[in-house]
Amino acid sequence: MARIGITTTVPVEVIYAAGHVPVDLNNVFVSSPACGELIEEAELAGFPRSFCAWIKGIYGAVRRMPDLGAVVAVTQGDCSNTHALMETLQCEGMEVIPFAYPYERDYDLLRAQVEGFARRLGTTLEEAQAEMRRLDRVRRKARRVDELSWKEGLVRGLENHLALVSCSDFEGDPEGFATKLDLLLEEVAKRRRDEGFRRAEDMVRLGYVGVPPMAPELYEYLESLGARVVYNETQRQFSLPFDTGDLVEKYRRYSYPYSIFYRLRDIRREAARRRLRGLIHYVQSFCFRQVEDIILRRSLDLPMLTLEMDRSSRLDARTRMRLENFVSVLRKDRG
Ligand code: SF4
Repeated sequence: MARIGITTTVPVEVIYAAGHVPVDLNNVFVSSPACGELIEEAELAGFPRSFCAWIKGIYGAVRRMPDLGAVVAVTQGDCSNTHALMETLQCEGMEVIPFAYPYERDYDLLRAQVEGFARRLGTTLEEAQAEMRRLDRVRRKARRVDELSWKEGLVRGLENHLALVSCSDFEGDPEGFATKLDLLLEEVAKRRRDEGFRRAEDMVRLGYVGVPPMAPELYEYLESLGARVVYNETQRQFSLPFDTGDLVEKYRRYSYPYSIFYRLRDIRREAARRRLRGLIHYVQSFCFRQVEDIILRRSLDLPMLTLEMDRSSRLDARTRMRLENFVSVLRKDRG
């Protein structure tokens, strides 16, 4: 059994079916108390200052994980910065396993990718398919957490974020992660009788789109302003909330690696049914996805605040002030 690093959601069913354990390197980096040091280590190794901090943090994290057996490189559907990271790791002796999401979501091309990925790890699509049934039981719990966020307003934005973002690798222990979700669901159920717990209904309902934040304290800060995130776009996608028993189709419906126009369909639908008052578009400094802000602004009929962050895992004074102004304007609009 080996630990296999991933940098974005890939068919983890294949990794589990092959008897290995996936490790989402983004989560390792962002939850590390030494986040800043990991970035600095990458810069000392030669990564430029003007480069995505996620990439540098992942590089630093990998260097501190001598037991990592291989890393999956998403060669289509992620970003060119990740390519450069993979080549650097390969150059340092790491085994790199490629996987690609076909841009036009072609079923047969994606199936060929999943089969190739399975062959490389010594398993089959059929075995991965059986693994999906086990993982889907855990995903349904995360989906329930998400539903309780927007339908009953009983889940904090940070709780929603953590429950969904962790579905990329199930924290390497699907059963252990399922137990954590059960405990959260029990806690949330108690809030139904707790008059002191603030419902999303009484707050400014927000959506969060873009890559997950470098500073998760954003959620708590918004709560302190009387606003709650009831839609985490990308994190929700990581939980693959699609009703299909076909593994290939599941990853074909997953929006993050495909075009912005496909993502927009999901954002529009969720913004309407979750009754969002506004959107926060998080962009990472030096990321190509910043340009998607243009399309989002042109395509969505909702007030939107674009937040750019670089390497700090804390919100600075300017960001806090911008969030405060945004929430205050939305509250006034609501009357
Ligand atoms: S934030 Fe952007 S540049 Fe950085 S790893 Fe993600 S997609 Fe790539």
